[in-house]
Amino acid sequence: MKRVSIFGATGSIGQNTIDLIARDPGAYDVVALTGSGNIAQLAADAIRLRAQVAVTAQDSLLKDLRDALASSGVAAAAGETALNEAASLPTDWVMSAIVGAAGLEPGLRALQQGADLALANKESLVCAGPLVMATARAHGAAVLPVDSEHSAVFQALVGERIETVERVILTASGGAFRDWPLERLRGATPAQAATHPNWDMGQRITIDSASMFNKALELIETKEFFQIDPFRIEAVVHPESLVHALVGFCDGGMMAHIGPSDMRHAIGYALHYPDRRNLPVERLDLVRIGALTFRAPDEERWPALRLARDVMQAGGLAGAVFNAAKERALDHFIDGRIGFMQMAEVVEATLNRVSASQGHIDAEISLDNVRHADHLGRMTADEIIRQT
Ligand code: NDP
Ligand code: MG
Repeated sequence: MKRVSIFGATGSIGQNTIDLIARDPGAYDVVALTGSGNIAQLAADAIRLRAQVAVTAQDSLLKDLRDALASSGVAAAAGETALNEAASLPTDWVMSAIVGAAGLEPGLRALQQGADLALANKESLVCAGPLVMATARAHGAAVLPVDSEHSAVFQALVGERIETVERVILTASGGAFRDWPLERLRGATPAQAATHPNWDMGQRITIDSASMFNKALELIETKEFFQIDPFRIEAVVHPESLVHALVGFCDGGMMAHIGPSDMRHAIGYALHYPDRRNLPVERLDLVRIGALTFRAPDEERWPALRLARDVMQAGGLAGAVFNAAKERALDHFIDGRIGFMQMAEVVEATLNRVSASQGHIDAEISLDNVRHADHLGRMTADEIIRQT
């Protein structure tokens, strides 16, 4: 039986992962499930899947979790240390689907015990790509991309040599405001930004899709995962969200990955890799779809794409600062303190301020330095927001 753990089990990716695992009851030994605020869901899934342990990230919810798991045989734990301990339990496969930089350390712990890491948490690679990939190599573990674009590139590269890749093109739906006039964007509300035309995802990534911060993170993720020069990585707007990515080779051929807008495809590919198994996703009817369209992204509308290029060029800890500033800008946008277009302004100002002080970006990418850069990025972004 394959031993599996799911970090961020109560979220959108976590629930899709559980959906696949629960369809095949005899095949998996569920070790740990983790969540944060949604104790009822966490406990219900842990009992249903007979997990060894359920962990909430919030210390204050330990009693609630214990009560919900009473006499079920599932152990309860809470807090950051407990999350890291759960990640160190022996497993074969771990889904990393916590949202934000908080997902980094459990992922590293899982790799250190030799588990293959299915990585939905793109922030891990953005903040600490070289550290994540080196940890995997050192422990003979695989990192398997779950982000749909990266799963698409990964699949297009099966049997290919990376040296023959001329370009990688990630597609972007354009999110909620793709067709809004530019002048309306300043007044866009969190509720408007949190509706996605094609994908059903968590609130934060859905807003990041509207601002293209999600695509910005994914461009950086591509550089880190596939070790591709930043100038070879592009984004195009593709409103139908059916082509997830394309790889262009040195002979002019391109491989496009086409599939339904259902994360269970990418999750299932990572779960069964290197096999392909039957998955409960829609089969596309190309004749009904009729046309696939592509447009150039407008960087005035989506300045996050320009910032991603700056971050890729800077390297080092720039990704950790970028992500931290983005997370705080998003928090403040959700709370109504800053406007939609101000998010990119805050992130750019944070990057400029942190880069101007020597040593913060160029330091070695260790877990401590990433934590420090993350903290600095958050503090600086908060300060900039206070001053606006
Ligand atoms: P959700 O917001 O739906 O879920 C996030 C999960 O993380 C929940 O289980 C939540 O617990 C838990 N969580 C939140 N904060 C913390 C914390 N500080 N420490 C530990 N756990 C925490 O997010 P998604 O499932 O949408 O996204 C998860 C990751 O996958 C993100 O990195 C996202 O960018 C990436 N991703 C998501 C895609 C999607 O389709 N949703 C597509 C591609 C990538 P609780 O809910 O109990 O509070
Ligand atoms: Mg994606």
